[in-house]
Amino acid sequence: MLFQDPGPSKADIKFRVLGFPVRIHPYFWVMCLFLGGLRNDPGILFIWAAAVLASTLAHELGHTLAMRKFGEDAEVVLHGMGGLAIPTRTRWRRTYDSQILISLAGPAAGFALGAAVVLIAMALGAKLLSGFSSFGLPYIAVDWPKGVLSSNPWAEAYIDYAFNSVLWVTVYWDLMNLMPVYPLDGGQALRAWLEKTRGGRGLTQSLWISVIVGAAIAVMAIAGRGGLWLAVLFGWCAWSSYQAIQALGRPRWARDY
Ligand SMILES: [Zn+2]
Repeated sequence: MLFQDPGPSKADIKFRVLGFPVRIHPYFWVMCLFLGGLRNDPGILFIWAAAVLASTLAHELGHTLAMRKFGEDAEVVLHGMGGLAIPTRTRWRRTYDSQILISLAGPAAGFALGAAVVLIAMALGAKLLSGFSSFGLPYIAVDWPKGVLSSNPWAEAYIDYAFNSVLWVTVYWDLMNLMPVYPLDGGQALRAWLEKTRGGRGLTQSLWISVIVGAAIAVMAIAGRGGLWLAVLFGWCAWSSYQAIQALGRPRWARDY
């Protein structure tokens, strides 16, 4: 499965943050290179990988902190399709409300990192820019007047790139994760909310939303400039949600067309 823990490997990097074990699978770095495009400046590549790491780690730690609040223990695994916060000890069965909060805590932590980066940049004299990219994705960026960051143009370019790549990855990653597509965070929160309010019918409805929105984003990613990675990710989500519906058996409301 696309989002499963790929298992330990010899090239894993392991450390702890806030008491949570973190394991980085080598495919994570492959994904960084793939998403960043090949560049011939090692400094820029290094900053890009550090920005993806900071954004994804902040996101997963949001999930694990919420899990801890609900009495669960967890570990973080970063792999080739992003990250996972895996519960390692659960005392109770998760309630729908705690599932919703745990799911939303990841994007919330990511946006908090983005806000902190914007505040630091503005304290250093930056102007905030925002708008929509050619693919229709919103972006925020920071811009400094020339020479404010450093008199050395190389250092200036690197610092500027560091701030803006964290912002770009954070907005992209966390907005993408909020899409109502299972098993992304937005899809998990929606499923828990629909199951809470509508029972088994809610589960089926959340899966159909997942199929439709996931397929639409995959098509947009192919037609526009969202890229192959986005198309594969959402295409897979839509397909696996469709298979989950088949496994549930056809509900009556969905049989009539
Ligand atoms: Zn998440």
